[in-house]
Amino acid sequence: MKDTIQHKEAEARMRTGAITAQGFLGDDPRPVAEIVEADEGEFRRLGLVFEIVAAELERLRDAGEGGLGEPVTVDGKWLVQTGDARGRLPCPYGDGIHHKNSIWVRRVDSGEALVYSDLSIHLLKEHHFLQGRGSGFRLEPHAIKRVLGL
Ligand SMILES: [Zn+2]
Repeated sequence: MKDTIQHKEAEARMRTGAITAQGFLGDDPRPVAEIVEADEGEFRRLGLVFEIVAAELERLRDAGEGGLGEPVTVDGKWLVQTGDARGRLPCPYGDGIHHKNSIWVRRVDSGEALVYSDLSIHLLKEHHFLQGRGSGFRLEPHAIKRVLGL
């Protein structure tokens, strides 16, 4: 886990309007360090590994991009649709700039879906940050497990 100072600096940039209009924290009152710690604990309990989850989210994105905006069925299990907002977003931790896109992955069997972006994948993989509760791009560990089937 990154130290608290880094989380504090990033936190200011995660507020509403700094990088995106909606910000990254939703209505979650917890400090970022606490959100990260709680999600790391949840990942451990569920047997999820950040790198493996990130690789699967990337694989589904890459498969979905073949649809050029139309939904694509992947492995008979998921319906994946990707959209490109033609912009770039900096990581709030200040270590890179990412494609502004959205990726929508829906289980064919249950209908449950995940919505994420290139920046969400980076935040998950490099910072273990899944965004605050109530954020439109929050990746809930239980939902990750069910939707990816990991
Ligand atoms: Zn970063």
